[in-house]
Amino acid sequence: MQKMSSFRYVWAPPEPASVAVQGSDARLPVQRLFFVGRNYLAHAAEMGRPVDATRDRPFYFTKSHSALLDSGASVPYPRATSNYQHEMELVVVLGAGGADVPAQSAHELIHGYACGLDMTRRDLQLAARDQGKPWDTAKDCEHSAVVSAVLAMPGKVLERGRIELRVDGQTRQDSDLSNMIWGVRELIADLSRLYHLRQGDLLFTGTPEGVGAVRAGQRIDGSIEGVGSISLQLSEPSA
Ligand code: MN
Repeated sequence: MQKMSSFRYVWAPPEPASVAVQGSDARLPVQRLFFVGRNYLAHAAEMGRPVDATRDRPFYFTKSHSALLDSGASVPYPRATSNYQHEMELVVVLGAGGADVPAQSAHELIHGYACGLDMTRRDLQLAARDQGKPWDTAKDCEHSAVVSAVLAMPGKVLERGRIELRVDGQTRQDSDLSNMIWGVRELIADLSRLYHLRQGDLLFTGTPEGVGAVRAGQRIDGSIEGVGSISLQLSEPSA
């Protein structure tokens, strides 16, 4: 355990980043937000970047704490985009850390799961991608990492379950976790080669096909079988 700080600060430091917990009023402190780039064949194909699972490896990007948002919120349509898109994803919540974790031990790091929305300024992402530039401004914008209340399932590896998303009641994404190219074990093992994973790290495991734009005034509802549900309301852009 890290000792409580005895520093004085120039201004009040922010509350720790956290997410809600199912069946509890205690919040779960969050460390880092990791995202898998392409983890469903049909989504990779719709983005024009098919994955060859025999040769390709997963890749990752991150978001900062300012992106984190509880399910159920209403937020303004973001600035600097005219193509804000939904990506419905399973989020793995790590309850323990580790580096170079073998896939067969990866379950030991799992605390539980949540539903996640990896909201994306797609116009900025495609422009960056096509120019070989970083994705940060496309992906890591305010309120773009929506997370539902966490369901504790220590040590449990989710391998299947329906994952779906609706916009104003109309189905946009409808798939199954079994369609993930790299499963939860493989992702934890792979990411732990790159980072020393920590308690409170969140891993968004990628989105199935059917991503698309949302407009101000629209409501997003998503669910994952056995995990929970998530929603986001987009209001008019702020002045
Ligand atoms: Mn995503």
